[in-house]
Amino acid sequence: MNKHRLCIVLLLLCAITWTTSAQRRKKNAKETPEIHQTQKPKLVVGIIVDQMRYDYLTRFWSHYGEGGFKRLVNNGFNCKNHHFNYAPTSTGPGHTSVYTGTTPAVHGVIGNNWYDKETDKSVYCAADDSYTSIGTTSAKGQMSPHRMLTTTITDELRLFTQMRGKTIAVAIKDRGAVLPGGHTANAAYWFEGGTTGNFITSSYYMNQLPKWVQDFNASSIVEGYKKPWETLKPIATYKESVVDANNYEGKFRGKDTTTFPYDLPALWEENGQFSILSSTPYGNSITTDFALAALEGEALGADSDTDFLAVSFSSTDYVGHKFGVDSKEIQDTYLRLDKDLERLLNGLDAKVGAGNYTLFLTADHAAIPVPAYLKDQKVPAGYLEMDAIKTQFQEFLKYRYGTTDIVKNISNEQIFLDHKVVNNLDIALADVQEEIAYEILSYSDIDKVYTGSQMWQQNYTKGIPYILQNGWHQKRSGDVIYVPKPAHISYSKTGSTHGSPFIYDTHAPLLFYGVGFKKGETANRTEIPDIAPTLSVLLGISFPNGATGTPIEEVLE
Ligand code: ZN
Ligand code: ZN
Ligand code: ZN
Repeated sequence: MNKHRLCIVLLLLCAITWTTSAQRRKKNAKETPEIHQTQKPKLVVGIIVDQMRYDYLTRFWSHYGEGGFKRLVNNGFNCKNHHFNYAPTSTGPGHTSVYTGTTPAVHGVIGNNWYDKETDKSVYCAADDSYTSIGTTSAKGQMSPHRMLTTTITDELRLFTQMRGKTIAVAIKDRGAVLPGGHTANAAYWFEGGTTGNFITSSYYMNQLPKWVQDFNASSIVEGYKKPWETLKPIATYKESVVDANNYEGKFRGKDTTTFPYDLPALWEENGQFSILSSTPYGNSITTDFALAALEGEALGADSDTDFLAVSFSSTDYVGHKFGVDSKEIQDTYLRLDKDLERLLNGLDAKVGAGNYTLFLTADHAAIPVPAYLKDQKVPAGYLEMDAIKTQFQEFLKYRYGTTDIVKNISNEQIFLDHKVVNNLDIALADVQEEIAYEILSYSDIDKVYTGSQMWQQNYTKGIPYILQNGWHQKRSGDVIYVPKPAHISYSKTGSTHGSPFIYDTHAPLLFYGVGFKKGETANRTEIPDIAPTLSVLLGISFPNGATGTPIEEVLE
């Protein structure tokens, strides 16, 4: 009996101690969010690596230093199962989707170039000839984000801070800067190339380059990269890529082999002068130099209104297109990008202060291994014979409709019909779309087809049709969509490309680092449009106005 009572007393004691410590824990937990709600980053840094596959993090991991990718992964949050949830997976849609938190179905940037039904011509996603070039006499500055229909996270931050928070966007590619900057950017800058190594902009933003940009352009920084490209480490240690001399790589003009070293001064004139730097890792180093100059020149992160620095590393894409995802050249480009990231992070620590900024790193699409290489490894892969397909298709059109005029344009793996011609036939538009879809499906390298009517009427929730529907814009997209077989592309037989709804094009890295983000990792699926809403929650600002993504709760502190 006494023993029993003692037990009860002991149990009660235990319960009391447990409750008080639990209360203490609860109190602590309650205090933490209040601190973090008031602690906002002074600067958000958005990094897009053009054409970065997720496995570039893991494949080259043992070569990376502690201060670049590894710093972000080890001290930040790694979303390992991150995907583009739309096609086409290309640069214009990629940059736009990251920053708008939605897909081409909503933001309207349905390709890098597309056939514009209203004006009956092909348009470029960032081109706008109603503005003039600033910093050059060429037309390369005539850009604006006017084809992007919704707001970006950068726009929402500007609006939230009553336009006091600054947005500066930089890239080698114009679209890599213009689209992330949004409609309200203070500035977007990109690399001119050709006869100059200057950064330029559009009169959409300003009428004159600020002094720090003029000074950068007048400096010898870019000229300094006119030097041979050799591997960063001994090439024999690059065991994560195929042998340097192979048939899967493209060549620079004036060089017979696809092997290191690349003597850029000797190749300079034949390969577009300063433009050759874009196709080497030096383009990323130049972007880093310029981003660091922007940090200083614009005093980003210096006051209490959160600023935004949007950086896009374009050269990874040029190198991937030329040499392919398994090349020594791509491995070296990533090892050098790791060093540039380290330089950028050190610059942020010094100027803004560690603990005052927050950062994400992702891609605008991934890329396919060179199909010719896959074929040699017995993986099903191939190249579409587009000329043969076009001839066969035109014969079908003439035979069935009496004219080839019924097709206005074929681009981004979509067929645009001339609706006036269709109206003159005695067949409903949906039926014409379906007939053409069946015809295309009969071609050997085509795997799947969908019609505009299906996109209009169905609500796909998974798989390839879900991805296609997210990329299909009611006003802007085509009448028939076709998908080649996996690993079958319409491209040169050397180098890698992207654009498809398949995993090799959709799986990209997503790293969060800095104020407001936890350390950790997840293998749960996250999607590109989730990034902007996650930042909105962290910053306590509105979601971009077309956002369809979901905040990734597990990464937020
Ligand atoms: Zn790209
Ligand atoms: Zn090579
Ligand atoms: Zn590309």
